[in-house]
Amino acid sequence: MNAFAFTRADSVAGALRAAGGDAKFVAGGTTLVDLMKLGVENPTTVIDISRMPLAGVSRMPDNGLQIGALARNADVAHHPDVVNGYPVLSQALLAGASAQLRNMATTGGNLLQRTRCVAFRDTAMACNKRSPGSGCAAIGGFNRNLAILGTSDRCIASHPSDQNVALTALEATVQISGPKGERSVPIGDFYLLPGDTPERETVLEPGELVTSVTVPPPAPGAKSAYLKLRDRASYEFALASAAVVAIVRGGTIERVRIAMGGIGTKPWRNLEAEAALHGKPATAEQFAKAAQIVLSDAKPQSQNGFKVELAKRCLIAALTTVTQGA
Ligand SMILES: Cc1cc2nc3c(=O)[nH]c(=O)nc-3n(C[C@H](O)[C@H](O)[C@H](O)COP(=O)(O)OP(=O)(O)OC[C@H]3O[C@@H](n4cnc5c(N)ncnc54)[C@H](O)[C@@H]3O)c2cc1C
Repeated sequence: MNAFAFTRADSVAGALRAAGGDAKFVAGGTTLVDLMKLGVENPTTVIDISRMPLAGVSRMPDNGLQIGALARNADVAHHPDVVNGYPVLSQALLAGASAQLRNMATTGGNLLQRTRCVAFRDTAMACNKRSPGSGCAAIGGFNRNLAILGTSDRCIASHPSDQNVALTALEATVQISGPKGERSVPIGDFYLLPGDTPERETVLEPGELVTSVTVPPPAPGAKSAYLKLRDRASYEFALASAAVVAIVRGGTIERVRIAMGGIGTKPWRNLEAEAALHGKPATAEQFAKAAQIVLSDAKPQSQNGFKVELAKRCLIAALTTVTQGA
């Protein structure tokens, strides 16, 4: 690990003052410290934000929920308002990592965690995300766990988070503070596709800090669930996952939001698939049509063709669970 300066911020203003250059914020440290040890991230300054007062989870005037950037994943997963109002988020968080990691990991750190692509994490391998212009060892290499949607000829790294898939289905908004002031970004606009610049993963500008995530009030009658498929039952990233939030009345789908994980270069939402389900009976046939739409643009790599069928089955099973309460 390279030498670096360490400083601690007690307030948002203090964190923003300390930020700049290649400085990095550290919250729970469960991603950043690993990547520094591997030589993938080499900040010259690390700003500890973990003691700032941003760990609250509170109701907003519109009955939505505000989750502080420093709220621990475990605390959010077990918060009564999350368990009761947003089961999809609680389930997604509890499907992630291990109990120890969830006790450290924060909402903001989870939003900004980096890909688990082997080429990205191994500095001996070519990776356009880590070292722009160096190539991509994962294309034609070890890509079993990587993306089949949203890829480019520069990068096929999959987005690793479970939390962010649930937040996408819940249409969350990310609150940001930075040198130019405060702004809010819908989560659907927060993540960038790799295109020609895979090193840019989000719309965050240098020195900007995520302060909280807000989630709209639960729609009356909505049910939700998260299904994660992976190589082992715990402590493993998703091969495919699905977050579904739906209102079904009299067997008809009135409203549905779908996001998928494990298969995309960012949390994957497909508005066409949602539109195809609106007003339709909640049947296996309709779910299969929606799954077909989501996967129609899939571009499997040399080792991950199995994800196309796996993801379809994942989505169909999640839709079945939510709409039929099975
Ligand atoms: C073994 C292992 C297994 C895992 N399995 C899973 C899994 O199955 N599913 C899953 O979803 N995740 C998994 N994770 C990832 C884990 O969820 C993340 O490491 C964690 O959420 C990151 O949160 P943190 O607070 O520790 O982030 P940190 O490591 O502190 O920070 C991560 C990044 O976010 C930036 N950052 C942090 N907070 C802010 C902020 N408020 N504003 C701006 N930038 C910020 C940091 O600068 C850094 O770049 C796993 C991790 C490990 C080590």
